[in-house]
Amino acid sequence: MAEQYDAVVVGAGFGGMGAAIQLKRLGLENLAILEREDDLGGTWHVNRYPGLAVDIASVTYSYSFEPNPRWSRLFAPGAELKKYAEHVADKYDLRRHMSFGALVNGARWDEDESHWVVSVEGRPDITAKYLLTATGFLSQPHRPDISGIDDFAGKIIHTTAWDDTYDMVGTKTAVIGTGATAVQLIPELARAATELTVYQRTPIWVVPKLDVPIPSTVQKLFSRIPFTQRIARAVSSGILEVIMVSAVLHYKQVKLVNKAAAAFSRAFLRSQVGDAALRKQLTPDYDFGCKRPTFSNNYFRTFTKDNVHLETTSIDHIASDGIVTSDGRKTEIDTLVLATGFNLWDVNFPAIEVIGREGRNLGKWWRDNRFQAYEGVSVPYFPNFLTLASPYSYSGLSYFTTIESQMQHMDRLFGEVKRRGADTFEVTEEANAEFLDRMTENLADSVFYGGSCQTARSYYFNQHGEAAILRPTSTRNAFVEAKRFPLEDYSIS
Ligand code: NAP
Repeated sequence: MAEQYDAVVVGAGFGGMGAAIQLKRLGLENLAILEREDDLGGTWHVNRYPGLAVDIASVTYSYSFEPNPRWSRLFAPGAELKKYAEHVADKYDLRRHMSFGALVNGARWDEDESHWVVSVEGRPDITAKYLLTATGFLSQPHRPDISGIDDFAGKIIHTTAWDDTYDMVGTKTAVIGTGATAVQLIPELARAATELTVYQRTPIWVVPKLDVPIPSTVQKLFSRIPFTQRIARAVSSGILEVIMVSAVLHYKQVKLVNKAAAAFSRAFLRSQVGDAALRKQLTPDYDFGCKRPTFSNNYFRTFTKDNVHLETTSIDHIASDGIVTSDGRKTEIDTLVLATGFNLWDVNFPAIEVIGREGRNLGKWWRDNRFQAYEGVSVPYFPNFLTLASPYSYSGLSYFTTIESQMQHMDRLFGEVKRRGADTFEVTEEANAEFLDRMTENLADSVFYGGSCQTARSYYFNQHGEAAILRPTSTRNAFVEAKRFPLEDYSIS
């Protein structure tokens, strides 16, 4: 007999833990949280590169129902997020449900038994009434397919697999990539390496990070009077919402806000870099918000150091002892850091094979019929299944907004299933189509379609040129709909 659960949650990051907390609140205690890594925390367990920190203020980048009064800074370092994840797992009694090193290969809906059969590498299949995938958006590292990379004789490190034992001091290092990860990492590497060459294909918009330590008096205040931290959260979330909703999503209506953000970033660059030619190389030629904006007080300035070199000529190949650019120049290096991000659209969405009713394969169906998910959580032909890292699910800039609105959706949906004493739920094709149409229509106002994003090479866009990750509504709307979506949008039986 296969092990049987009420629910299987795939992923023990903040998404999976939020889903598990919600399931337990609904009385579903017989649940398994399967995690491929050797510990909990998702992205905050995997990523340990120097300089790692949140880039959304910590009062906002945390569960609203579990505020942490002890953040050491306005933007907490990565290690504090990992500790916070451990605290949440303990407080909400999640650890006993977790299984690590559990690589889920796929899941198949068994129509006769009305349950999911989940296949885990090297273990017997397990079954579950409900399946929830919380596999994250940025969980499949992208290793670039650059000619010769396998022949490099030095050390190669991808930022998601940082080697803490490797000493960078005195090395001749190259970094490929200038995304949000590189923006945090490059100033740190510049301190350690004798020579640091940064290979930039596409520059990134950077704005200052208003980061300060949180004094112990304020931490005590947050602890004793939690209302004060709630006010801080409301202010920080409000600022994010203005940036996200007006500058990015309502680009057509308030283009000026977007242009002001770009002008602000350019002025910031001018204040940090005197050399006009270098500034030009670091200035994006696409609109602010096409790519996720980044925050740093010392990224631009790092390029003015004598040991740091910005290389914008494209890479031709990698030799055993260095990188050769298309103009034939070779830069000798002993360490190659790949800050090359993640693959979202080929190997994620979904991260595992999911086969629903009538043999429908979710990944294939998404690719053949546009990426879509009703309210960013459910898909027709996939009964008793919620996919949390889905098209049009990412609400606002803080992942916790997304998680908590999805928890709200679960509350309403599972609550109704329970009230009716039903066995299955499945979103209707009509409700799903209506949601997709509405998101598509809303996106027409965004910078993604109204602005100039052609040169951004942004992972927000999929292989069909659709910006299908962010939910193009206010976060308030996401919460309102999660609380009040029409129950007829699901067939519950
Ligand atoms: P990313 O934004 O996708 O950046 C990857 C970089 O690698 C880009 O500059 C890309 O250049 C470059 N690249 C990839 N393949 C290449 C190739 N073959 N040749 C040359 N360059 C290549 O990835 P990321 O920096 O890891 O950031 C991903 C996301 O993680 C962020 O947007 C953010 O949401 C999140 N993040 C959050 C935090 C935080 O909150 N603290 C920190 C880091 C990251 P192109 O642009 O030209 O493709």
